[in-house]
Amino acid sequence: MPFSTFGLEAEIMRAIEKAGYVRPTPVQAAAIPKVMQGHDLIAIAQTGTGKTAAFVLPMLQRLSVWQRQGQLRGIKALILAPTRELAVQIMDNIRAYGQHLPIRVAAIHGGVDEDAQIKALRKGVHILVATPGRLLDLLGRQKLDFQPLEMLVLDEADRMLDMGFLADIGAIVATLPRRRQTLMFSATLSKEVESLARRFLHQPKMVQIGKRSNPADTVVQCVYEVPTHLKNALLLELLRQPKFKKVLVFARMKDGADRITNFLKLAQVKVAKLHSSRSQDQRLQALQEFKDGKAQVLVATDIVARGIDIDGVSHVVNYDFPVNPEDYVHRIGRTGRAEAQGDAISFVPKQDLNLLDRLELCIGQRLERKRLRGFDYLAPPAAPAPGDKPPRRDWRKRTRDMEAQQAAPIRANGPRRPSPGRRPG
Ligand code: AMP
Repeated sequence: MPFSTFGLEAEIMRAIEKAGYVRPTPVQAAAIPKVMQGHDLIAIAQTGTGKTAAFVLPMLQRLSVWQRQGQLRGIKALILAPTRELAVQIMDNIRAYGQHLPIRVAAIHGGVDEDAQIKALRKGVHILVATPGRLLDLLGRQKLDFQPLEMLVLDEADRMLDMGFLADIGAIVATLPRRRQTLMFSATLSKEVESLARRFLHQPKMVQIGKRSNPADTVVQCVYEVPTHLKNALLLELLRQPKFKKVLVFARMKDGADRITNFLKLAQVKVAKLHSSRSQDQRLQALQEFKDGKAQVLVATDIVARGIDIDGVSHVVNYDFPVNPEDYVHRIGRTGRAEAQGDAISFVPKQDLNLLDRLELCIGQRLERKRLRGFDYLAPPAAPAPGDKPPRRDWRKRTRDMEAQQAAPIRANGPRRPSPGRRPG
C-alpha cells in the first residue's frame, strides 16, 4: 500500500518523499486512516516501527485542513512524552514532516530555561510537545490556553506510567476540553495502560502490531555469559571489531554508566554518555556526537534512552542485563529500526542468569550463547559421559578458572588456554 492511498495533503507527501519513505510501516498503515477519520486510538507497537509518523502525519493533515478553513488558532494538539529527549525528537519529526506547512510547534520540558519556553509559546504554537512535569509547572502559572485543543497524544504511555507520571497526566488532562481526539501509543499493553485508556479515551480503535512484548524481528540477539569483572575486557574486545561502528551500551545505574565511560576513555575509545544527572546541553551534545559518528559508543541508562531514535545503530550492548523484560525490548529496539538489521548483545553474569531465564520465558525465545576468541574459557563444560548427571551450570568452577586467568591481559587473537574440549569437565 503506497502513502498516496491515505489522501494526505501534497505538502505532507512532499515531506514524506524527502524523508525517503517508500511505503508506510505496518503501524502507519493501520493507524493513519483511523486517526484521519477522527477516532480515538490505542496503538501497541514495538519501538522503531515508525510510530511517531503514525500520529504526526494524520495530525498535520487535520491541522492543515483547519488552516485552510481559517480555523488554525491556538494550541490544537498536545503530545505528552516521558523524557525531554523524546519530546525534542518528536518536535524535530513534526518540523521535518510539516516543513511545507505554516504550522508552528514548540517543546516544553525540564532542563532548560522556563522563561525561554514561555517566550516561544507567546509567539503562537499549534502543536505543543511536552513532558508532564514541566507542563504542569507552566499550567500552575496559568501560561497556557488549551481551549482550542482538538487532539491529545500520550506517547510511550507505559513508560510515563513507569516513571510515576499518572497523577501529572490526570491533572493535565483535567484542564483540556472534553471533546477532543485522544491517541495513546505504548510498547506494551499492561493492565495500567488499559486503565489509563479507559480513563482518557472514548470508544478507541485498537491497533496492535507484532506480538506483545516481542523484540523487533530485525534484531539478531545473543548472550555472553561473562562474570562481572570481565565485562570491561569483553566490551573492549567487541568494540575493536570493525563492524561495531555505532554502539549503544546500556548500564543499569548512572554511576555504572560513568564507570564504563571512564574505562572506555582510558582505552582510547571515542565515547559519549547520556543519563539523567547530565544537563540538557550535555545530553543533547552527547546525542549529537553519537549521531554524527564522532563518538563510536554512547553509554546510556534506560530512562534517558527510551524512545530515542538514532539512525544506523549497529549494535546494542546490554552491559548490565535489564531487570525488566520490557526494558530489554526497548533497549534492543534502538537497533534494527525500520527494517534495518541490527545486533543486540547481552552480558550475563552468574547473578543475572535468573533474569535471563525470565526474559526468555517472556519473549518465548532462547537467545544464542556466544563465545569470543580469547574468551573461550567461557564455553560450557564438555558434554558429560552417558549416565552422568551434569551440573546445570557449574559456575563456581568456571568462575574459579576465569579468576585464575584474569591477571593476564586478554588477547584478541586466540585462546590463551587449552580449548575447553580438552579441559576436564
Ligand atoms: P519511530 O518508531 O517513530 O521512532 O521511527 C523509527 C524510524 O523509522 C525513524 O528513523 C523514522 O524516520 C523511520 N521511519 C518512519 N516511517 C518510515 C517509513 N514509512 N519508511 C521508512 N522509515 C520510516
